[in-house]
Amino acid sequence: MARIVLENITKKFGKVVALDGVSLQIEDGEFVVLLGPSGSGKTTLMYLIAGIYKPTAGRILFDDRDVTFLPPKERNVGLVFQNWALYPHMKVFENIAFPLTLKKFDKKTIFERVHQVASMLKIDALLERYPWQLSGGQQQRVAIARALVKQPQILLFDEPLSNLDALLRISVRTELKRLQKDLKITSVYVTHDQAEALAIADRIAVINNGKLVQVGTPEEIYNKPQHTFVASFIGNPPTNLLKAKFDGTQLLIEGKPVRAPKNFLDWIAGKKIVLGFRPEKGLLLERAIEEAVCIEVQVYEIESMGREQIITVSVEQTMVKILRPSEERFFISQKLFLCVELKNLMLFNENGEALVLKDPLS
Ligand code: ATP
Repeated sequence: MARIVLENITKKFGKVVALDGVSLQIEDGEFVVLLGPSGSGKTTLMYLIAGIYKPTAGRILFDDRDVTFLPPKERNVGLVFQNWALYPHMKVFENIAFPLTLKKFDKKTIFERVHQVASMLKIDALLERYPWQLSGGQQQRVAIARALVKQPQILLFDEPLSNLDALLRISVRTELKRLQKDLKITSVYVTHDQAEALAIADRIAVINNGKLVQVGTPEEIYNKPQHTFVASFIGNPPTNLLKAKFDGTQLLIEGKPVRAPKNFLDWIAGKKIVLGFRPEKGLLLERAIEEAVCIEVQVYEIESMGREQIITVSVEQTMVKILRPSEERFFISQKLFLCVELKNLMLFNENGEALVLKDPLS
């Protein structure tokens, strides 16, 4: 186990700035997910932790040891990749043993260590099989066992579930989370799948364009996004974002006059802001209510999701998605009020940064 400290890391590939001044501390035994869109710098950051890349600037510490320029083999890090690349001609035992065989460990140690990790991962009954005789989930356990057999102090996962079908992903990620908690190994996990990140992380580090945008628990990232980028990247459907301003006499949302409580109107006076709210926080009502911001909308489309339905409504030219229980009845072109209670509103400035409020809306 180890604590990982990334200090002001910059990584350039020629003129491309893949990472730009990233600082992050990952605690002993913590499970941190690096989440961001394609090309945001997640893999680069993970390779820097592994020692595969060297930073252009900044320092990396494992506990208090400066490892910035140490090669991978001196870092004691286990890697689990996207395609687990088990050797097809080797049995599970040999696959797991491979890193030790390479390092010329003696047979007795290899036997003991392979059996130890295999029993920990509950794959001891599979040691004599070939990879093609295993399910996807079992193959993944073998890949993790192979990473663990070196007794690493840190485990790194690079989109390890992306080759699995949707159902298997969900069951394997549950197992992975449980396993990480049992092993208590500091783990860093790269994904662009926000649902996966919310499900497994102790903390999520959201990266965009080589910069850390926000680091927090799944609850913080979901409920208190610090930037419109985080609000719109996370959640399915994502957070609705609407432009709002007070024109001196009335509140306009996407240019449309709306009703809002007086304390909200007082607060917004003179400001141009972006209003955000989660799809499940939008109410679709026949009449506007006093204690909420209410906009007249028209139903554009209805999609059933089984337990819930997604109602897409139009606010002028902007489409807004609302999640409602499937028992509620709506019809296309229906005119309604979309109401969001003040406590469920997220507020951002024009640059997309969350506005820090001293509870002006209570
Ligand atoms: P993905 O989810 O698509 O794997 P990512 O978030 O992991 O994306 P990185 O692979 O870290 O992104 O890439 C970050 C940026 O650095 C991208 O613009 C990429 O094109 C660039 N980059 C990465 N590796 C190299 C390299 N070896 N040479 C040049 N540019 C690179």
